[in-house]
Amino acid sequence: MAVDASWVRSWLDRSAAMIAENRQELIRLDREIGDGDHGENMDRGFQAATSKIADAADDANPADLLKLVASTLISTVGGAAGPLYGTAFLKAAGAVSGKDSLEPADIVDLLTAARDGIVLRGKAEVGDKTMVDAWSLAVDAAADAANAGADVASVLAEAARAAEEGAAATEPLVARKGRASYLGERAIGHRDPGAQSTALVLRVAADTAKD
Ligand code: ADP
Ligand code: MG
Ligand code: MG
Repeated sequence: MAVDASWVRSWLDRSAAMIAENRQELIRLDREIGDGDHGENMDRGFQAATSKIADAADDANPADLLKLVASTLISTVGGAAGPLYGTAFLKAAGAVSGKDSLEPADIVDLLTAARDGIVLRGKAEVGDKTMVDAWSLAVDAAADAANAGADVASVLAEAARAAEEGAAATEPLVARKGRASYLGERAIGHRDPGAQSTALVLRVAADTAKD
């Protein structure tokens, strides 16, 4: 499908379903190296975001919808992930403002802005065992794909694949940001929950564009 307002709507609906399905898994991951609430936080936030989107004006463009998601996530998710995802969606909105349909370069801009927003807010670098590890690999892979002439669906597919790789790559790491950083070496062997939820959300973004 075209990567437009309908895509944003389906992406969010399907992300809410994906997060709900993975709620227990995200809770389990966060129990290992955090406080066990990531699945609950994300489920609450994405359910709220999808119901807000359902009420949005019919002529809302992608940026309008992404902004609505941002404010909903900020006010409902809580924890570290709320402001981080909220900032990601807010910056993503800014990157595509005024556009009705997104092209490969717009997807790269959207993902880059989201990642940069998270970094600005949370000050984590790649390798700190956070969601930044998934977002950053996604940005790099999307940029490479767009530069090679890939279409929007393929750019998103590359981003999703790389985010999954980034989430898996957090497993052997010691955390340097967030609650997991209190654990030192005990965090080794556990996947970062925020990197995992990022991989889920970007997987849905790609699958939605493919359909
Ligand atoms: P909390 O840790 O407050 O309970 P969540 O469990 O909802 O919040 O989210 C935890 C996730 O947030 C972590 O797995 C990590 O990916 C992400 N995170 C935490 N701190 C940072 C940070 N400073 N920068 C980037 N991501 C972070
Ligand atoms: Mg937590
Ligand atoms: Mg918490």
